[in-house]
Amino acid sequence: MLKKILIANRGEIAVRVIRTAREMGIATVAVYSELDRNALHVRLADEAYALGGQTAAESYLKTSAIIDAIKQSGADAVHPGYGFFSENADFAKTITDMGVAFIGPPPAAIVEMGDKVSSRKAALRGGAPIVPGTTEFLTSVDEISQFAKTHGFPVAIKAAFGGGGRGMKVVRDEKSVQEAMDSAQRESKAFFGRDEIYVEKYLSWPRHIEIQLVGDTHGNVVWISSRDCSAQRRHQKLIEEAPAPALPDGVEDAMGAAAVKAAKAVGYFNAGTVEFIYQDEEFFFLEMNTRLQVEHPVSELITGIDLVEWQIRVAAGEKLPMTQKQVLAARRGHAIEVRINAENPTGGKFLPSPGTITKLTTPDGFGVRFDGGYESGDTVSQYYDNLVGKLIVWGKDRESAIARTIRALEETKIEGLHTTIEADLAILRHPDFAATKHSTKWVEEKLDLSKLVSTTGETQANSEGLVEKSTVVEVNGKRFDVKVWVPPNGASAPSAQKTRSASRGASQSAAASGTVTAPMQGTVIKVLVTQGQTVKQGDAVLVLEAMKMENQIQADKAGTVVKINCKAGDTVGSGDVLLVIE
Ligand code: ADP
Ligand code: ADP
Ligand code: MG
Repeated sequence: MLKKILIANRGEIAVRVIRTAREMGIATVAVYSELDRNALHVRLADEAYALGGQTAAESYLKTSAIIDAIKQSGADAVHPGYGFFSENADFAKTITDMGVAFIGPPPAAIVEMGDKVSSRKAALRGGAPIVPGTTEFLTSVDEISQFAKTHGFPVAIKAAFGGGGRGMKVVRDEKSVQEAMDSAQRESKAFFGRDEIYVEKYLSWPRHIEIQLVGDTHGNVVWISSRDCSAQRRHQKLIEEAPAPALPDGVEDAMGAAAVKAAKAVGYFNAGTVEFIYQDEEFFFLEMNTRLQVEHPVSELITGIDLVEWQIRVAAGEKLPMTQKQVLAARRGHAIEVRINAENPTGGKFLPSPGTITKLTTPDGFGVRFDGGYESGDTVSQYYDNLVGKLIVWGKDRESAIARTIRALEETKIEGLHTTIEADLAILRHPDFAATKHSTKWVEEKLDLSKLVSTTGETQANSEGLVEKSTVVEVNGKRFDVKVWVPPNGASAPSAQKTRSASRGASQSAAASGTVTAPMQGTVIKVLVTQGQTVKQGDAVLVLEAMKMENQIQADKAGTVVKINCKAGDTVGSGDVLLVIE
């Protein structure tokens, strides 16, 4: 068995792995960036090593620093978590060549499944149906237009090395092809270091259904469960559940069998997930994630299997602890996971909301699990993933799981930054979700979040310059929670700095002054206009990146760009004036 595992990651997934390793009697080693010196994963590990740097590239993606930490600590295995090095075959190979176990699949399988184009070929070889599209990289706009002529719009231009919803652009007409192709390539290059693209048909109302599987080094592969991850925004998952509800008889088994075939086609072992889209009782292979996924706990709750334990056992050369039959027989009830991201869902916009968590109260009770990466007082940085934590709930059936998830979310209190909680609640309370009538487009196209206001977040000044504050009053001995609106400068304002910049931004946009301010802290990716250029209201003028997401900043009024205060690469703060239109 392995003796000491270094976790080459941060946040909730590092915490998740540390917990299982500790239960198995295995020592744990954390690594950390300058910003994470006192982070939760560092606090929980047996020992920790500094990587230096702040951005992911300077820290968690710096191979030499991680190799040094492996050597210094004497770790005999590395768990990559998800993101970062988890799907990097060179890293896996470097580790393995050092005689250190990589807790993941063989490098060759990562290579083949890591690129969506070759993974589509592998799926075909294994006999799994794929989404109609090209199985070669594309280089020209013409090839995309040709594909669209034959198959019709909309089409999806996808980065072969993309992930997490990034590097994918939906195109609805001929004139948008060039811009979408550039944007897909730019995003892919920035996040994944490569910009190969391909095109596929964009289905109109599909569900996202995936299959969790685990293989060992003796040639056995079992699938654990299906998961429905259709509640998404920007092609990123918000809520996941297991098993996928309301499937006709035999469909889950067929998907499980297809997933196992695709995995076997590349000699897969360790944990992995085959993603499909499902529409009109047909399913199509999307991609394979050659790592543990964010939503793996829902499969754990309905089977009792600790997937991290299985990953560690398989990496140590053990055989899978259960057969396919035993896994399916172990299944019981329904599980739901809610991603709690540092994002402001007000008006359905889901804007990044980095900041310091001033208060974090997690829920509890029967069937409730909270996998978090932060505690009260911790800071969610603009440089990393925005996942604060995950609420995972079990119920005897889907209906009770939904009710319990709502109850637990209502108990969850996070202050200091905005989170997706209000949007998550809106999804869970909606009859379409209860009836499984939703699709991957439902959150953005059907669910009306226009009136949603996140109240869990930092205190934002309204148009009158007042900030909201909660307090308790007693009226005739009965207790009431009330909200009051007070000027931000009083001692009661939680963060004078933030409130000031927020009110500046708010009052200016309310008046459509032409002063374009940064809605959040971030890095300027591209300035889309030049000085002297005329713009219409709503034109995109700048691309700002925060928390691994590109945000288009728009002109709030028509006019001429008279001043540009920033350039690509600049870091800007919330409320900073980016450019001026007159
Ligand atoms: P899932 O596990 O459901 O597929 P996502 O697709 O959202 O979840 O991605 C998993 C996590 O890994 C996300 O938090 C995402 O931000 C992160 N991630 C994906 N690719 C990379 C990458 N190349 N570098 C850093 N983080 C990444
Ligand atoms: P990523 O690597 O970013 O996870 P995926 O290929 O898994 O990329 O796609 C992410 C999400 O985008 C899917 O869950 C689905 O909602 C949507 N999607 C991807 N491809 C298509 C398609 N061809 N038609 C419709 N929706 C799609
Ligand atoms: Mg995917």
